[in-house]
Amino acid sequence: MVLAETVASGELLGLDELRDVEVAPHRPERIKGQRFAEGLAIGHAVLHEAPVAPERLLADDPVAEEGRLKLGLTALKANIDSMLEGGQGLAGPSYEVLETYRMFADDRGWNRSLEEAVRGGLTAEAAVDRVRNEHRARFAKARDPYIRERLHDLEDLANRLLRVLAGDQPGQRELPDDTILVARNLGPADLLEYPRDKLRGLLLEEGSAASHAGIVARALQIPCVGRLAGLRDRLSEGDLVIADGESGEAFLRPRPEMLDAVQARMQLRAQRHAEFVALRDTPAITRDGVRVTVLANAGLVVDLDTLDETGAEGIGLFRTEFQFMVSEELPRLQAQTDLYRRVLDAAGGRPVTFRTLDVGGDKVLPYLEVEREENPALGRRAIRLGLDRPGLLRLQLRALLSAAAGRELRVMFPMIATVDEFRAARALMDAECEWAERRGKTLPASLRVGAMIEAPSLLWHLDALLPLTDFVSIGTNDLFQYMYAADRTNPLVSDRYDPLSPPTLRALQDIQRQCAETETPVSVCGELAGRPLEAMVLLALGYTRLSAPAGGVDRSSA
Ligand code: PEP
Ligand code: MG
Repeated sequence: MVLAETVASGELLGLDELRDVEVAPHRPERIKGQRFAEGLAIGHAVLHEAPVAPERLLADDPVAEEGRLKLGLTALKANIDSMLEGGQGLAGPSYEVLETYRMFADDRGWNRSLEEAVRGGLTAEAAVDRVRNEHRARFAKARDPYIRERLHDLEDLANRLLRVLAGDQPGQRELPDDTILVARNLGPADLLEYPRDKLRGLLLEEGSAASHAGIVARALQIPCVGRLAGLRDRLSEGDLVIADGESGEAFLRPRPEMLDAVQARMQLRAQRHAEFVALRDTPAITRDGVRVTVLANAGLVVDLDTLDETGAEGIGLFRTEFQFMVSEELPRLQAQTDLYRRVLDAAGGRPVTFRTLDVGGDKVLPYLEVEREENPALGRRAIRLGLDRPGLLRLQLRALLSAAAGRELRVMFPMIATVDEFRAARALMDAECEWAERRGKTLPASLRVGAMIEAPSLLWHLDALLPLTDFVSIGTNDLFQYMYAADRTNPLVSDRYDPLSPPTLRALQDIQRQCAETETPVSVCGELAGRPLEAMVLLALGYTRLSAPAGGVDRSSA
């Protein structure tokens, strides 16, 4: 009765919306979503198949079922291994994402939970489903998009295991030419199974730019638009579609005029890119003769490919937290060292500035117990956590020192709010250097330690801070959110202020002046540095070192 009333009032089913849903849609439609990977693509829709739901819940023979589960797990891992070994012609970028994913498959907790569920009498399929639901519940509380996306990796793994258990061996899938792949969400391995040369674009109903599908799509340069509500209900297999990774929209069954317009834009992009390529290696010198250093921001080894592609001169900000966030347990010393070494190798002598772990607040690491905080952005994040858990920070510094043995090492600490915090962090670095020396380890050929300027408190204490640092870097994303008291992750307030208004300009001018006076090298590494007008303003203020997301270095791809 209640249901009937609710339905009658249109509340439950949203009858108005339902009126628009067609059984076989044929009209042109446009759906607004979010831009996950730049670019434009025209092609025909191919629907990514939905995961299989378990049919039987209880096993007749738990022992045999455990055997089935183990066989399934082995086949699953072997399948990912063969992708990793390049059997599917994987390019380097996807490798790291897949490696992380492979780690999940090996995760002891996941394997144990599955085994226990089967021993309790469930079928292997039902066990996978149960464990997946438990993970969902655990991760669903996390507000951080990275964490939520790791949940999706686990889901993807569970879906693949269900496919293996159903006797369907995942492998390279066939696609027609000019495919625009359409899915609710995609795991990294799923995407990599499709032949790259046939994939023009990717449209997702869910996900986020930080999702592995988003990262892989960017690395493979496949235009990708996500968060397209109701996409799959409005589309049939084979429909002509446009993935507009510039505006973050999908056009379904576009009219000929629309197609012509998009084709013209595609030509323009190709032309702009050719112009950029021709200019790429020209040194960045302003007309009045000032040399500007343009660097890129990164967080994965794969991002280093952008150095060659964009001509950036190095990495001005390497966000080390990514490795920690995709991991189910604290990355060990060796794993951290390996990653940093690979980054330095890939940079091939170009400077890399590593930023120590910036987690805490609502960037929760599943293996780190932290108290719930009312205001995570103002909570125990970044260097605060590092100083409270010196073991964690020292391990990371040890890995950095070891990876950079005999080379240049540049390290900076995030979210420094007081001069004492910087002193304490630097003391940990000194202690690690002494530790390495005592053990006869090779130290970096040079070591520079810097602070990120992200907390407004530092604006009035630069006179004390700058003499202690080798360099500073301004994280405008955080600096401005704290200056304007506007949460950068909350779309309701995040862009309420003008980043080029007097408060920010005065703050930036002041920092630049004090750095110039003390001859402290300074860079700007927030998103601001990658936007053309803002970058010009930074140059006008006297900044000559900018570090931007890759799309900000090569605007022709943005
Ligand atoms: C910043 O705050 O501007 C910054 C570069 O750091 P992140 O975006 O990683 O917080
Ligand atoms: Mg920051």
